[in-house]
Amino acid sequence: MFSGRGRSVRVALFPVFCSLLSLGCGDALSMRLLVLGSGAGGGVPQWNCLCPQCRRAREERDLPAAQKRFRRTQASIAVSEPGERWTLINASPDLCSQFAQAAELAPPEGALRGSPLAGVALTDGQLDHTTGLLFLREGTEIRIACTDPVWKSLNSTFPIVSVLRHFLPVERSAYPAEFGGVRIEALSLPGAPAPYEAPSEEPGQVVALRLLGTKSGRRVAYAPGLPEISDAFLAFVSGCDALFVDGTFWSEEELAPMSEERRRSIRRSHLPVSGPEGSLARLAKLPVAKKFYIHINNTNPMLDPDSPQAKEVREAGVQIAYDGMLLSFYPTDS
Ligand SMILES: [Zn+2]
Repeated sequence: MFSGRGRSVRVALFPVFCSLLSLGCGDALSMRLLVLGSGAGGGVPQWNCLCPQCRRAREERDLPAAQKRFRRTQASIAVSEPGERWTLINASPDLCSQFAQAAELAPPEGALRGSPLAGVALTDGQLDHTTGLLFLREGTEIRIACTDPVWKSLNSTFPIVSVLRHFLPVERSAYPAEFGGVRIEALSLPGAPAPYEAPSEEPGQVVALRLLGTKSGRRVAYAPGLPEISDAFLAFVSGCDALFVDGTFWSEEELAPMSEERRRSIRRSHLPVSGPEGSLARLAKLPVAKKFYIHINNTNPMLDPDSPQAKEVREAGVQIAYDGMLLSFYPTDS
C-alpha cells in the first residue's frame, strides 16, 4: 500500500457505505494529512550540489510528478479535520510551489482571493521551517503557533514577524494551540537553536508536535528535528495513529565533508537513522501503526528507493515520506 508513489494513502478502513456509493465523502469524515515537502534544508537537488543523488534528482526534471523518486522540496505537512480549514506545520521556503501543487490548498471557489489555511504551527525557528511565512504576506492575516524562544527569534534575530506586519496582522498562539479543529501540543526537545541564535539551554528551541483531531479523534505526531528518542518522546507519541520523524541522516559518515561547527550542530539536532543507537532500531519496536521518515537530506542513501538502506527501513516497518503523499485517517468509531 505504501511502496508506490501514488497520490493517496488510506490509513483506516473506509466506511462501507462510502465505498459503495463512491461519494468522495472522505472530506466529510476523515482527518487528512498532506506531505507538502519531505526533504531537509535545501531540498533535493540542492541548488549547488552535484552529488550522485542531486544528479539523479536533476535528471528527473521533465518526468511526471508521480515518477519523481529523488526530488524533495523542503519539509512541511498540512493537516485538516472534516469540513475545516488546513493547518500548516512549518512554512518551508518552497511554500509557493508546494501550495501550487496541492489542490487541497487552492483558494476556495466563490471569491477571487482566499485560502483554506487556518494557521501555521512551527517546530523551531530554522530557516527551512520559517522562511515560507514571508510568502503568506498576500493574505489577510497570519496565525502562528510557536514557543516563546521561537517567537522571540522571529521578532529579533530573524525578524520575519516585524517584516510581515508591514503587510498584514500577525497573531501568535503559544502551545497548546488550536487551528481548524486541530489541537496542537508541543514537547520540548534538546535540539540546538537556529545557527544565527546565541547558544541557549532555554526549553522550546525545538519541539515535537502532536496534532489531535477534535472531530475525527485521530492523532499524529511530527518531529522533523529529533536529537534523541527519550522516554518523554515515547510517552508523547504513545497512542498516535501516525508518526513523522527526522530522517535527515543515515549515518554520521555523511557529516564528514562539513565543518566541525556544522557537524556539532547537526549532531545536537538530528539522530541518525542507522546503527544500534539510531532511530530505526527504536522506531521498529514502537507500537504506532504508521511510521514515516521525513526531512530527508540529499546525502541520505535511503532517498534511493532501490538502495539497501531504503529496503532496511521498509523491512523495519517504517515508510519514507515523499512530496504529495496524502493520508486519510478515518474515525475509529465510524
Ligand atoms: Zn547533493
